[in-house]
Amino acid sequence: MLTRQLIPCLTALALSALVSTGLISCQSKGSDSSETAKTATAETPKAEETAKTTTTATSASIDPTTIPANKIADAATIIARKQVPVLCYHQVRDWRASDSKSARDYIIPVQAFKDHMQMLADSGYTAISPDQLYAYLTTGATLPKKPVMIAFDDGNLDQYETAVPIMDKHNFKASFFIMTVAIGRRGKQPYMDKTQLKDLADRGHTIGAHTWDHHNVKKYQGDDWKIQIDEPNAKLASITGKPVRYFAYPFGLWNEAALPELQKRGYLMSFALSDKKLDPNMPLQTVRRIIAGGQWSAKTLHRNMVGSFD
Ligand SMILES: [Zn+2]
Repeated sequence: MLTRQLIPCLTALALSALVSTGLISCQSKGSDSSETAKTATAETPKAEETAKTTTTATSASIDPTTIPANKIADAATIIARKQVPVLCYHQVRDWRASDSKSARDYIIPVQAFKDHMQMLADSGYTAISPDQLYAYLTTGATLPKKPVMIAFDDGNLDQYETAVPIMDKHNFKASFFIMTVAIGRRGKQPYMDKTQLKDLADRGHTIGAHTWDHHNVKKYQGDDWKIQIDEPNAKLASITGKPVRYFAYPFGLWNEAALPELQKRGYLMSFALSDKKLDPNMPLQTVRRIIAGGQWSAKTLHRNMVGSFD
């Protein structure tokens, strides 16, 4: 029954400590993710140094379906393009005593998240949508100077209640990859409900898919593609009234067999994590992200963004 069991990231993280290498955590850690709170203060660029920079909203959305097939670049061209930083967050809340050290990589305290967003704004970054990223990768369409894509996985309620108001201050729009089994769940670990997901979509954020119950894509067989990919896609589309074109791999894990399946099922891009290169044949189905670590200062985030994507 494991395949039907809810395995949220943090549960998987806890399991990973027990199951050795067999079960990889929701996210692979970047090399600098162990940086601890010692650098968590006083490293944000000084506001007066950067006040001259301006933050602009994500430009009007691009409909990727209007891009003709013969205008889409080949894999080698897409791989050769300068990569856009894509940041992945999970929970945005203050740490509890019960949060393990490893869990804290995936739980960013509220002030640290504010510092991250302030750093992006002060440094002149513009948050772009996956539609914009897709247009850039496929056609070379122009992006704003210093683009960044901000993503959240799983659909935790604190993303809506805590992170979005902080991003609103900077007019940052984000992408939310939702594990549909948990929509509307309440309790100790609450998740966004349908109304909140619709609200995000209405406000210009992007809702993407993250499977039904966080089942590892590499293990799909039989009805798994329907249950984990097709049905969640349809559910999210019915909630938001918008097509669901983007996917994030649970645990960041994928294999070559999954890539054409995802493309066939309507995903224009799928997001992995930083531990692998882009697939040489289907780079759009293996777009890289980094976990913006819960223990990273704003300065560490900036250093890792530049280091990982430039
Ligand atoms: Zn996840």
